[in-house]
Parts: sequence; C-alpha cells; structure tokens
Amino acid sequence: METSSAAERVTSRFIAGHTLEREVSVCRRLNAEGILASLDHLGESVTSLQEAERSRDAYLSALDQIATLGLKATVSIKLTQLGLDFSEAECRANVEQLVQRAKMIGTTVEVDMESSAYVDRTLALVSDLHARFGGVRAVVQAYLYRSESDIEDLCRQSIPVRLCKGAYQELSDVAFPHKPDVDRNYVRLMTKLFEHGTYPAIASHDERIVQRAVQYVRERNIAPDRFEFQMLYGIRRDLQRQLVARGNRLRLYVPYGDAWYPYFMRRLAERPANVLFLVRNLLKS
Ligand SMILES: Cc1cc2nc3c(=O)[nH]c(=O)nc-3n(C[C@H](O)[C@H](O)[C@H](O)COP(=O)(O)OP(=O)(O)OC[C@H]3O[C@@H](n4cnc5c(N)ncnc54)[C@H](O)[C@@H]3O)c2cc1C
Repeated sequence: METSSAAERVTSRFIAGHTLEREVSVCRRLNAEGILASLDHLGESVTSLQEAERSRDAYLSALDQIATLGLKATVSIKLTQLGLDFSEAECRANVEQLVQRAKMIGTTVEVDMESSAYVDRTLALVSDLHARFGGVRAVVQAYLYRSESDIEDLCRQSIPVRLCKGAYQELSDVAFPHKPDVDRNYVRLMTKLFEHGTYPAIASHDERIVQRAVQYVRERNIAPDRFEFQMLYGIRRDLQRQLVARGNRLRLYVPYGDAWYPYFMRRLAERPANVLFLVRNLLKS
C-alpha cells in the first residue's frame, strides 16, 4: 500500500513524495515563496538497528542537499526512527552525527516528540546534544500535564522549543483529555515561551491561537525574527499565505518517503473531514 500509485494520489496533499528529489523540489518552491522548511524523512519505530542506520544516512543525504542547494531548511527527526527502541547508545551516536553535520552547514536538527513514554529520554538527549554542540530544537506537547515544567527547564538551558498540541493517543493520567483544556494550556505555554524562550516555534493551525500569537507579539513589540510559526505541509494553506504576506516567518514541516502510513493516519485522526477527502479521492481513482 505504501508504494502504490493510487495511495500516492491520496497522500500527496500531505506528503511531498517518495524521494528526496521530490522533497527538494517542494522545498525550493516553498523557499521561493518566502517559506522555510523542515525536511522529515518518514519512518518511525524502525524494526532493527540497520534500518535506523539507513534512516540516519537518508538524513545525511538530506543535509547534503540543504548545503549544496542552499535550502532554507532544517531537518526533523524521530528518535524511534534512529534506533531508540533498540539501543540508546546507537541512537545517540546516529543523532550526534546528524547534529554535527547540521552544525557544520549552519542548520538545526528538530527532534520531534513522540508518545509520552519517550519524553524523558528525548529531552535528556536533546539537553545533552544542545550542551555539547548547539543546533537542536526540542518539541513540547501542550496536552501533557508535565509540559509547563519541561518548558521552564528548556528555557533555563536556552534550548529552542517547538510548541505543538500533541498528536498521540494518551491516557488522562498524563494528558488533558478535553480539547479546550489543551488549547488553554497551549496559550499559557506559548506566553511563557515568548517571555522566556529562545527563538520559539509556534506550531499550530488553530486560527485563534495564531491570532493570539500575532496580537501578543504586536503588543510587546517582539520582532518577527525572534520566533517563527510552523505548520504542516498541505494544511491551512490560506492561513500560511496570510502569515507570510504579513511579514511573519513560517516554516512548513514537509514529510517525504515511503513510510507514510502512521503520519497520514495521524492527520486523518485529527480531522474527520479528511476521511471524506480520502474516500472521495479513492472513488475518483
Ligand atoms: C510543524 C509541526 C510539527 C509538529 N510536530 C509534532 C511533534 O513532534 N509531536 C506531536 O505529537 N505532534 C506534532 N505536531 C502535530 C500537533 O501536535 C497536532 O496534532 C496538529 O498540529 C493539530 O493541532 P493544531 O494545533 O493544528 O490544532 P487543532 O485544534 O487540532 O486544529 C486547528 C485547525 O487546524 C486545521 N487542521 C488541524 N489538523 C488538520 C489536519 N490533519 N487536516 C486538515 N486540517 C487540520 C483545522 O482547520 C482545524 O480546525 C506538529 C504540528 C506541526 C504544525
């Protein structure tokens, strides 16, 4: 299914394509429109350390392309894709190579946050790499109760943070079960990041949150180069264009590769209307 052409027609709204070449051409187009990118080579929960090494190599090739073509892009990685479930030491070695290469070419490695079982290990690795090399960004999920304290820790260490709502199924003993509470927590954490954070990334398509951010920075005269908005490729293109037209920095998270299934399913789960879109396209094809 992951390599079928019918599936490609359906997934192309959210995914740049199967190859790095396609990814690069999407990034060039975005850069030409004044939009920054973050390259995500799809794949998570790999099943062997060899697979993790292949993921690392795919990212090294992506970083080479960023350098050669002068793309305005970071890379976004998942630790389970780089072997965390098999060996913390091997995973660390893989990520370290990426961070060192990224640093050499003047870009950043953004470490996505996965389900709550990984948060401690992910933040520990990010802190360590930040202290040794710099050039990493952590991700915090507003649906977790612990996130306020994580943000305080990350701000103390001057680690840049991407704030998102959170995309995994979590139990109510670790995460707010009701969306309005997640949204309220997002705004509280966002304010904290604007006050104490280093180059925060406001990652949301929620128009009310985006407007709150725009209003907050305007009232406090925070310059547009002190933070960025982030959105996912293919979602709320109208809002993306609006933000850029008004002089804001926007980075799109652009996934590519064959292993699109879990990513695509999270996008469907976030918005029931996407299932209708999927069915319509399947009927058409
Ligand atoms: C750049 C970026 C990086 C991310 N990284 C991570 C990460 O590392 N870990 C993690 O757990 N999560 C991550 N996420 C996902 C995030 O946690 C949310 O699941 C997702 O962004 C939806 O939340 P929202 O803030 O857009 O708000 P919502 O309240 O869910 O959505 C607000 C509006 O956005 C639009 N929208 C949202 N999602 C969709 C969709 N799938 N399809 C179509 N329209 C949609 C709709 O108009 C909706 O009304 C990331 C999101 C972004 C933008």
